[in-house]
Amino acid sequence: MHLARFPRIFLAHLPTPLERLDRLDRELGGPEIWIKRDDCTGLSTGGNKTRKLEFLMAEALAEGADMVMTQGATQSNHARQTAAFAARLGMKCHLLLEDRTGSNDPDYTANGNVLLDHLHGATTETRPGGLDMNRELEMSAEAFRREGRRVYTIPGGGSNPTGALGYVNCAFELVGQANDRGLRIDHIVTATGSAGTQAGLVVGLKAINSGIPVLGVGVRAPKPKQEENVFVLAQRTAEKLGCPGVVRREDVVADTGYVGEGYGLPRADTIEAIRMFAELEGILLDPVYSGKGAAGLIDYCRKGRFGKGERIVFIHTGGAAALFGYPGAFA
Ligand SMILES: *Cc1c(COP(=O)(O)O)cnc(C)c1O
Repeated sequence: MHLARFPRIFLAHLPTPLERLDRLDRELGGPEIWIKRDDCTGLSTGGNKTRKLEFLMAEALAEGADMVMTQGATQSNHARQTAAFAARLGMKCHLLLEDRTGSNDPDYTANGNVLLDHLHGATTETRPGGLDMNRELEMSAEAFRREGRRVYTIPGGGSNPTGALGYVNCAFELVGQANDRGLRIDHIVTATGSAGTQAGLVVGLKAINSGIPVLGVGVRAPKPKQEENVFVLAQRTAEKLGCPGVVRREDVVADTGYVGEGYGLPRADTIEAIRMFAELEGILLDPVYSGKGAAGLIDYCRKGRFGKGERIVFIHTGGAAALFGYPGAFA
């Protein structure tokens, strides 16, 4: 499997560090916890979307686009990283932001990622919650095309087979780091939303026969839907890479027991996880994704579902810019 066959713009700061969280694992008294710092990908406060955008934005340029568009929730980290990547390439960027939480807090609607979207020169439009946002995106793109723009549209979260290549790449990078230091990984844990991160990881890990299972901690959809989304995208990604069938249905596992009331609504264990990482390790999580992923990780350790002596790698997917959209959650 040869990722260099696909167009890519090398912009992320890679490899991201793989670090031991020894104060956290002493506190939890169970497995050895490691963290893969994909919050440090280097673009406008970092995050997991930058790996996907390396492949997506290269495809946009190859197709002759002069403008990119994508969609996400109001505090979308993906929208912010797309805006920054477009700025770097001198492309226009237009974002559709969906009000999924119903919050009128001015910090939620204008601070955090929204502030950064505009700093990077992106224009934005809002939509009420519950619409088919990828359809809204295509309709809005048509209007720009009628004005003569060459628009490349990126689906929510950058989650299509092209974007998922970024996490196939992460799987190779992580296994390489583990091999170099003799670290036998027993489990990988990551937050899972639009599915591209988990799908890419599973494809990469299976394609090199690593034997490492991935647990996706859901942030929105119920378990059957989330696993189906990841599995379908993993199959399409494997086909694109020329290894169809490498992922089986049972390789895709999501636990959606940490979502709470819904997308973008942190619950008590989300906030506890954010505080623990901040106070014990000096690491910032976020209230929408990595805080819920870490709540799952902590709970699995406390319940003994990850056993003593096992080595767990938590993929830190970023998102700390969204903290500034949620000051009330920490009051
Ligand atoms: C988008 C995002 C995720 C989820 O990744 P998907 O590829 O959408 O499943 C996790 N964490 C953060 C911080 C994100 O922005």
